[in-house]
Amino acid sequence: MKHVLGFQCLSCKTDFEISEVLYTCPACGGNVDVVYDYRILRNEFQREHLAENRNYSMWRYLPMLPLHPETRKPTLHVGWTPIYNLPHLARQFSVHALAIKDEGRNPTASLKDRPSALVAAKALEYRASVATTASSGNAGAAFAAMCNSVDLKSVIFVPQAAPRAKVAQLLLYGATVIRVASDYDHAFDLCTEASRQLGWYNRSTGINAYTAEGKKTAAYEICEQLGWNVPDWVAVSMGDGNIIAGLWKGFKDFYAMKFIGKLPRLLGVQAEGASPIVDAVELGPQGAGLDGIRPVEAHTIADSINVGKPRDGLRAVQAIQESKGRAIKVSDEKILLALARLPRETGVFAEPAGACAYAGFLEATERGFFSSTDSIVIVNTGNGLKDIDSAVRTVEIPNAIPPDFQSLKDHLKLK
Ligand SMILES: *Cc1c(COP(=O)(O)O)cnc(C)c1O
Ligand SMILES: [Zn+2]
Repeated sequence: MKHVLGFQCLSCKTDFEISEVLYTCPACGGNVDVVYDYRILRNEFQREHLAENRNYSMWRYLPMLPLHPETRKPTLHVGWTPIYNLPHLARQFSVHALAIKDEGRNPTASLKDRPSALVAAKALEYRASVATTASSGNAGAAFAAMCNSVDLKSVIFVPQAAPRAKVAQLLLYGATVIRVASDYDHAFDLCTEASRQLGWYNRSTGINAYTAEGKKTAAYEICEQLGWNVPDWVAVSMGDGNIIAGLWKGFKDFYAMKFIGKLPRLLGVQAEGASPIVDAVELGPQGAGLDGIRPVEAHTIADSINVGKPRDGLRAVQAIQESKGRAIKVSDEKILLALARLPRETGVFAEPAGACAYAGFLEATERGFFSSTDSIVIVNTGNGLKDIDSAVRTVEIPNAIPPDFQSLKDHLKLK
């Protein structure tokens, strides 16, 4: 892996060799970032290679990933999710272009398949016999599936309130599921301790530098699928802040490779009841230190972003600020309204955390964040079938009618 230089701590900026770090910074405990040698990469990997590559999955970007080329990889098809242009909506909102990338179309129906596929492969490189993660549900389902596909045992820690569909999905993929009678933040801490005591390889978001490396492939795809026309804005929801940080890494990678000539601005969206990252951004650059993120009691219907203590919050704040982006919070009510509008307006069925990005976009249009020349990509991070109870709350299930034509006519109020 001569294209990987090592790790750099995101807090104290110390550089480390790959072999010196397993999870967080040995000097200060901060999260670390994988550092690449773009000179080597630019020699070995060009846009023409992508044009010729018929592998339409996240592995088409293997040369840009921190993996030995021979490492066994999960067999499930992750990535190259559809991106839909929405010209009618662009007109309606008076912006130049609007598109939605549907990460709900991944094998376990969320963006988490990307980091989980990479980390499962990484666990094999580390010769782990058991891999673990804390998860509000999606990361766990994804990791269980990816570990299963490379014959690796997984133990997943979920909060008590994880939606039933997600817990069922986990169990069906053969994971050992530990339901913690508390919230995600406590499930996270217990997972960390179990990993430390028992030597299980830990995928948990934030402390594992490789999740962002998997997530960045979604940004690569946005660039490639839009014909290398980088959007002016990318809107995405935030829980731990690792997806937005990963997307930013992806855009910066391709910028360093000279595949793209500009960077987008990031619109990071959180639910009002769990908005420590948005609050930190609003505090301004001084607030962006480690202490700038104040943990909160998290309460939102969007379970995937119901995070009070963001595990990659600092990096999310840095990404938003570096991109000259914005952070915005929306109420649960607006998230549900957005969830209800998405299928009709875009064709995409999202879980609440995915719809949160659309709610943020709608709010941003009202606040005049966008100009008429702006192009915007909204990322739906998870499929609506993940949390059917929330979807059901936005509709009225019709009463059953007798199976005869007269009843149908009565029901439809036809004469
Ligand atoms: C994990 C997740 C998020 C948030 O990602 P973070 O990296 O925690 O910010 C958003 N939406 C869905 C559907 C998710 O599963
Ligand atoms: Zn450090």
